[in-house]
Amino acid sequence: MPLPKAWYEQGIAVNATSWKALARKMGVDETSFSDEAARFAEAATAGVDEQFMRGQSAYDRYYGDPTISPNPNLRALDPRRLYAVKIVLSDLGTCGGLRTDERSRVLDAEGNAIDGLYAIGNTAANLFGTRYPGAGGTIGPGLVGGYVAADDAAERARRIERG
Ligand SMILES: Cc1cc2nc3c(=O)[nH]c(=O)nc-3n(C[C@H](O)[C@H](O)[C@H](O)COP(=O)(O)OP(=O)(O)OC[C@H]3O[C@@H](n4cnc5c(N)ncnc54)[C@H](O)[C@@H]3O)c2cc1C
Repeated sequence: MPLPKAWYEQGIAVNATSWKALARKMGVDETSFSDEAARFAEAATAGVDEQFMRGQSAYDRYYGDPTISPNPNLRALDPRRLYAVKIVLSDLGTCGGLRTDERSRVLDAEGNAIDGLYAIGNTAANLFGTRYPGAGGTIGPGLVGGYVAADDAAERARRIERG
């Protein structure tokens, strides 16, 4: 599947047909990068990763690609078609945040709702406390919390209007 054109235009992705050209586009040292790539290719061909031990544990191999041998976690890359994608930090969830009530209103230190102050998503304490049960554990409660907060804020506005 080709990478979206916009990724190249916005500098998120670069491509090249040699390690040195890729390093240049990424803005890293060409020699160290191509030496490292050559070391990786050797390890992949031998199927042994002495640096990071990838493919040694059954857990690694389970998540590997069974069509690649001798090590399903290491595939030598074809230097004629190289791609690099920028990776940046982002929030997945915090397992922390402001505690809220069933109407998404923020609670003060005594556990009383602060009228007119809402928290949802990553700003609110997760429904699952300090655990992350799996995919959907943040977006689901975030969406529901947002709906509940908007509903409550609208009702509050109507109350204020009515006096
Ligand atoms: C790679 C990745 C994979 C994930 N996969 C899953 C998954 O499979 N299932 C799942 O449930 N969750 C997943 N999550 C987590 C989920 O995406 C987040 O928990 C969720 O998006 C948080 O929603 P939010 O509205 O709290 O914050 P955000 O989505 O981060 O929204 C905050 C918004 O505020 C804006 N903003 C920031 N500062 C300001 C400012 N000063 N003024 C105005 N706007 C501002 C930001 O630009 C952003 O649009 C994943 C997260 C990542 C990073």
